Amino acid sequence: MFEDIKLVDVLGFSLVNYPGHPCTVIFTAGCNLRCPWCHNWRIAYGDKSKQDRTKQVLERLKDLRKYMDAVCVTGGEPTIHADLVDVLKLLRKWGYIVKLDTNGTKPEILEKALPFLNYVALDIKAHPDNYPKFTGVEENVWWKVEASLNLLRKALLPHELRMVKVPHLTTDRDIAFLKKIKREGELSLPSNIESVKLREYIAPPDRH
Ligand code: SF4
Repeated sequence: MFEDIKLVDVLGFSLVNYPGHPCTVIFTAGCNLRCPWCHNWRIAYGDKSKQDRTKQVLERLKDLRKYMDAVCVTGGEPTIHADLVDVLKLLRKWGYIVKLDTNGTKPEILEKALPFLNYVALDIKAHPDNYPKFTGVEENVWWKVEASLNLLRKALLPHELRMVKVPHLTTDRDIAFLKKIKREGELSLPSNIESVKLREYIAPPDRH
């Protein structure tokens, strides 16, 4: 059905993954980052990143349409898959409103996905200087995240910027940077378009 995306899991009901909507959550396999503190590390780069349960996940989603009107697409990192856009189109065809969780490192895919999205949660992991430390990859990917943020702002698509306060890693400088971005948004955007969430770290249920 889809050649370049692997869906690995589905959570039938969530009250916390889509602001204002009970939703279903689906998880895509794999991630291009290696955040040492990753909560979903098994799906991002552990054993589950190799699994492919796309057919079963989509069948479940089709059933859940009767009870749920919203779906959150998360991972791993959904935008590493070229077929993400086709999955989003299908979800919209089934009548879902769709939220995407992304690390923002694939603005070229995000741009194609925008017409099929209702809401986006974009990770702002740290101050730009600290990105390699937080993401576990050598390349500083901040410029790509910034490009994704600019796309969301230009499209006036409702979105949130979220930062996790990672113990022994997140500094006041990182949090000040998030606040700076927030102020920029307040100056240039309608008030209901951009929100900011500073979240406490929740340790993964299993260690890696
Ligand atoms: S970007 Fe998200 S899913 Fe990927 S490794 Fe980092 S925290 Fe995990």
